[in-house]
Amino acid sequence: MFHRVLPGYSDSKSGQTGDYQMKIGYYSLDEYEKLVKSFHGSLAPGLLIGGFMVDLAQKNLPQGEFFDTICETSSCLPDAVQLLTPCSTGNGWMKVIDFGRFAISFYEKKTGEGIRVFLDLDKLKNCSEVYSWFMKLKPKREQDSNLLMNQIKEAGAEILSIRKIRIDPALFEKKKGGASAVCPVCKEAYPAGHGDKCRNCAGESPYLEVAEM
Ligand code: ZN
Repeated sequence: MFHRVLPGYSDSKSGQTGDYQMKIGYYSLDEYEKLVKSFHGSLAPGLLIGGFMVDLAQKNLPQGEFFDTICETSSCLPDAVQLLTPCSTGNGWMKVIDFGRFAISFYEKKTGEGIRVFLDLDKLKNCSEVYSWFMKLKPKREQDSNLLMNQIKEAGAEILSIRKIRIDPALFEKKKGGASAVCPVCKEAYPAGHGDKCRNCAGESPYLEVAEM
């Protein structure tokens, strides 16, 4: 959920030089790149595009309302949302539905109404390197990453499209927290609704080995 507080950012001029300066949310492009590197580990192309996506959405949302978000892919986009809005997986205001589509939606929780921003293939005609990166047309070592990043920065929101959406508000309603139980196998607490054992002990364990230390 985030509160849209300010009108458009990207058309602001830098006070010092008067040069046109591209912005992502409140950040200059440089600042955003630094944030991304420290949070995500590297400046991934998807996070740069994701920054422009969140920025475009914020400019198209009505003021004075709160919005939850849905990321339609688990890669890159959730980090752009978490860097630029108060929505996170931890606070529940961001949901990841891993359709593998490069899109983010922002919706008002009660009405389910909002907008969806996506990377629009039809708009990538002049961005050959972005297109081949997005469609995974060549191995990473053959990518021209400078060209890729430059094309993304030059294009900004021009390679994105936006749609009005309405989601079923019941879809993400918080389920009432049920009682906890003690797992008879591992002796740890788990939601009783999961069954007579915790999911780990019922066969879904990711661990090959768990040893005392
Ligand atoms: Zn257990």
